[in-house]
Amino acid sequence: MTRHHIALVPGDGIGTEVLPPAQQVLDTVGARHGIAFSYTSYDWSCERYLREGAMMPPDGLDQLREKDAILLGAVGYPGVPDHVSLWGLLIPIRRGFRQYVNLRPIRVFEGVDSPLRGAAAHEVEFVVVRENVEGEYSEIGGRLNRGTPEEIAVQEAVFTRAGVTRVLDFAFDLAARRGGVLTSATKSNGIVHTMPFWDELVAERATVHPQVSWDQEHIDALAAKFVLGPARFDVVVASNLFGDILSDLAAAVAGSIGIAPAANLNPERTHPSMFEPVHGSAPDIAGRGIANPLGAVWSAAMMLDHLGHPAAAKDVTDAIAAVLAKTDVRTPDLGGIATTAEFTDKLLELL
Ligand code: ATP
Ligand code: MG
Repeated sequence: MTRHHIALVPGDGIGTEVLPPAQQVLDTVGARHGIAFSYTSYDWSCERYLREGAMMPPDGLDQLREKDAILLGAVGYPGVPDHVSLWGLLIPIRRGFRQYVNLRPIRVFEGVDSPLRGAAAHEVEFVVVRENVEGEYSEIGGRLNRGTPEEIAVQEAVFTRAGVTRVLDFAFDLAARRGGVLTSATKSNGIVHTMPFWDELVAERATVHPQVSWDQEHIDALAAKFVLGPARFDVVVASNLFGDILSDLAAAVAGSIGIAPAANLNPERTHPSMFEPVHGSAPDIAGRGIANPLGAVWSAAMMLDHLGHPAAAKDVTDAIAAVLAKTDVRTPDLGGIATTAEFTDKLLELL
């Protein structure tokens, strides 16, 4: 019996509704594969911020440090600015635990009505590897002459050789294990310092991974191709900002943001990695018991994979594929009438 201790951070809104289904799936599939999970739950959230002035306690990272992984629901609350939840919880965890890879698989499941038309839709199956700790999301910068006609805002992007190299190596390695094709997102025609640096490092790392064929695309053209011809992609690697935008675009193209998962990985395993659905707290449907749990469930499958249980992970993604392809039980975001609990029960039955 393998044991794992998981930190649960349900967060706000539907985050608290989609984590219990993920936990049920973990316990069910764990029982079959000889994996026992124990959990510690944390109430870190925007609600906590409103009550106590901080998303998490000052020793928050220390409380998580010894856990095997973190499963997060979603954070966000009407009236609390997004940067509070981002800089008060997500970014400290990502940076503090060196989760420098954000991995987002994209798959158009049979039985999901994607905005993509035609037979090729179901051939879409690729991953976006986003640099997760540096680049454009930087605190360096500021504003001058506030409120005057001469006002200036400056925001610096910071790319380091070590930081770019390690995420590129992760992406090349992943491409070598998958279809052997890597696409790098760039914008070196307009962004004339950081992006040429990124491109040079891609070319350099390519020589270390000769089994992978690679190309690069400007971010604008790449965004268009995500919509017009996504079946050709295998692994797409991008900086923090470009990867953020591309992966939300890809999740929307795949049919529903309620299905898309994400992993914030510490590839060296020196600290816990964090798994979270791509969607937010969805205040418009929170509390009604109709949230789609699949994004959280798929995130839990990515966690299983990371913890060394690929067969258990595949059981979960197979069950997701089956519930979508073989039944018409689904939540309203996918055109159904099922509640979160009914959808979860069907999924557990197929699992
Ligand atoms: P946040 O500020 O927390 O990021 P948001 O409103 O920006 O929230 P989402 O919470 O992702 O973004 O919601 C976007 C839309 O998608 C909303 O209409 C929401 O109801 C819907 N949605 C998001 N996740 C789900 C889900 N799991 N199931 C059903 N609908 C969802
Ligand atoms: Mg949002």
